Amino acid sequence: MLLQPLWDSILGHAALLRSPFFPVLFSLSAYLACCLPFLLLDALSGRWALLRSYKLQPQSSVGWASVRSCLALVLYNHLVLVLPVTLLHWHLRPVLLPQEAPALPRLLAQVLVCLLLFDFQSFVWHLLHHKVPWLYRNVHKVHHTYTSTSALTAEYSGPWETLSLGLFAAANPLLLGCHPLTELAFFLLNIWLSVEDHCGYDLPWATHRLVPLGLYGGARHHDLHHLKSKYNYAPYFTHWDRLAGTLYPQD
Ligand SMILES: [Zn+2]
Ligand SMILES: [Zn+2]
Repeated sequence: MLLQPLWDSILGHAALLRSPFFPVLFSLSAYLACCLPFLLLDALSGRWALLRSYKLQPQSSVGWASVRSCLALVLYNHLVLVLPVTLLHWHLRPVLLPQEAPALPRLLAQVLVCLLLFDFQSFVWHLLHHKVPWLYRNVHKVHHTYTSTSALTAEYSGPWETLSLGLFAAANPLLLGCHPLTELAFFLLNIWLSVEDHCGYDLPWATHRLVPLGLYGGARHHDLHHLKSKYNYAPYFTHWDRLAGTLYPQD
């Protein structure tokens, strides 16, 4: 059991895991921690040409006004939407913490399935919210406030979008009967990938450069989505856009 020592140390904080406020604190702190390295890059790229050369839209810069506005919306969404929903979920479904850790291959397989399911659900949701003008205007348009991406724009979304994507992410580990450690690993990876999607940089170690055969779109694809709007609806992988004919033509 490779993961047992890790799970044992996490179980040492069982009171925190059982707290009704844990999901919202985890979601917010993981999101801000994932954004932080990119915020530092944004601050440095103004002065450092080498860093600026990795920017997907080199002419764009991230100002304090947009940082403040993104932070305000993410805090508002977490307090007004995520907190009540997670409190209700905590009330309806007691937190079960098994003593045994999951096997590593099982954890990895389930995280991948959760990610593929989330990618499909988000693709369908996203396509629908672009194709139906009313849905675009009233729901998804908020997320398109910024035509160039930066890390904090990942969760710059209106209430229905925040709740829908949060629901997809939360439902998949439940559907698969995942261990709480698997659930945490999926949430963490999902938050990281959504921030990386919006980071605004094409870095040498970016996920889309590590996954072979163009199977993963990532930051480059999603930045093009914000710029062009009509392409690249899947958040992570490229297969659904390829099948639907909505992959940006250059790819
Ligand atoms: Zn969109
Ligand atoms: Zn986006």
